[in-house]
Amino acid sequence: MDVFEIISVGNELLNGKTLNTNAHWLAKAITELGGFVRRCTVIRDDVEEISSAVRESMERGVDWLIVSGGLGPTYDDKTLQGLAKALHRELILDEDALKMVKKKYEEIVGHGLLKRVELTPARMKMATLPKGSKPLPNPLGTAPGVLLKEGRMNILCLPGVPAEMKSIFKESISPIIEERRKGFYHEKSVHITGIVESELAPLIEEVLKSHPSVYVKSHPKGRKEGVSKIEIQVTTTADDPSTALRRVEVALEQLTSIIIDQGGMVDEERMT
Ligand code: AMP
Ligand code: MG
Repeated sequence: MDVFEIISVGNELLNGKTLNTNAHWLAKAITELGGFVRRCTVIRDDVEEISSAVRESMERGVDWLIVSGGLGPTYDDKTLQGLAKALHRELILDEDALKMVKKKYEEIVGHGLLKRVELTPARMKMATLPKGSKPLPNPLGTAPGVLLKEGRMNILCLPGVPAEMKSIFKESISPIIEERRKGFYHEKSVHITGIVESELAPLIEEVLKSHPSVYVKSHPKGRKEGVSKIEIQVTTTADDPSTALRRVEVALEQLTSIIIDQGGMVDEERMT
C-alpha cells in the first residue's frame, strides 16, 4: 500500500481564519483509492518551515507527499521556494507552466473579466518551479499544480483554493494512484445504544484478537433520553475488494452479536 503524507501550508490555517478542509478531503480521497495516509501536518507560509517539513517527510520515507497551499502569485505563497530548498534544486521558469498560465490569462481577458494580458512578475512566479517539475493543468484557476519525483518519492503541490485543489487531484493524480493501486478499502458502520464506551472497549478488543487486520473505531454520539448512543465503524484495506468486504462483514457480525449478548441494541436501519 502506498504511504502518503499531507502538508497543509497557510498562516490562515493556524490563526483560525480557515478550516483545513483540504487535508480532510485529501485523506478521504486517498483512503478510498487504497492508499494509507500516515500523517497530516499544518505549517505556516515560511520557507524554512516548508523546507524542514518536506525534509522530515523524506527522512521518514513516503511514496507520496502532497502539499496544499502557497502556489499563488502573492509574496506569501512560498511553497515552491521551500520545496526547492528542501531538494537542493534551482527554481526555473518552466516553459510548459508558463504556457498554461499565459493561456489562462488570455482566456480571462477574452471573457472581458480582466484588461491586462501581460505576464507580470507575479504571474511568472506561478510558472517558476523547482527543476525537474511537471506542471499540471489547473482547470479552475491560474496556478498550475506541480508534480516531481525525488528518488522513489512523488511530490505533488496543489493550490490552496479547495475547488482548484480537488480538480487537479481528480484530473491528474487520481488516475496515477488508481494505476498503482495495491489496496482496496472498505468500511461499514453500525449505530448502537444501551451500552457505554467503557463497556464496549473490552468487546472491541476481543473481536480484534480474532480479526487483527480490521480497524474498529467507536464514535460516541451523545445521549438520547439518558441512553448512550455510539457509532461503530469497521474498516480495512485488503489486496482485493471481496476480501476487504468479507473481513469487515465477519468482524462486524461477531462484534454486534457480542454487543447484543451484553444487553446492547443495534439499529438495523442505520447500517451504512
Ligand atoms: P493559497 O493561495 O494557496 O494560499 O490559498 C488560497 C485560499 O485557499 C486561502 O486563502 C484559503 O481560503 C484557502 N485554503 C488554503 N489552504 C486551505 C486548506 N488546507 N483547506 C481549506 N482551504 C484552504
Ligand atoms: Mg496561502
